[in-house]
Amino acid sequence: MKKNIRWAVIFSAVVLVCLGVIFFGQLTADSKGAEIYLGGKLYKTVENIENTQPGEITVRTPEGFNRICWHNGSIWVEEADCASLTCKKYGKATLIGETIVCAPHGLVIKVVGKTDDEVDAMT
Ligand SMILES: [Zn+2]
Repeated sequence: MKKNIRWAVIFSAVVLVCLGVIFFGQLTADSKGAEIYLGGKLYKTVENIENTQPGEITVRTPEGFNRICWHNGSIWVEEADCASLTCKKYGKATLIGETIVCAPHGLVIKVVGKTDDEVDAMT
């Protein structure tokens, strides 16, 4: 009998941990987006970079272009024609607040988190 109770406790703990992981996973899945700025002005908001579906946008400026891709919680510059290619060399930005800058094109990509209210509104 005692053995059964112990197993019941272990089983409940495992279930709780699983539920916690699923819940936390969904929370983070909806909580990261990105803002793309051109010349200091907001050019485009990417709602969700956590998507398993890859997305991309090509930003064209008089100085050149940047092809920006996002997938699985990361955003990065896939292709650009600026001289330094600092933006492309930066690689993937994944953390909220992280920014990729392409100074020659006046382009800034910023990873942003959403507030709890916005997450609630989406569910
Ligand atoms: Zn660049």
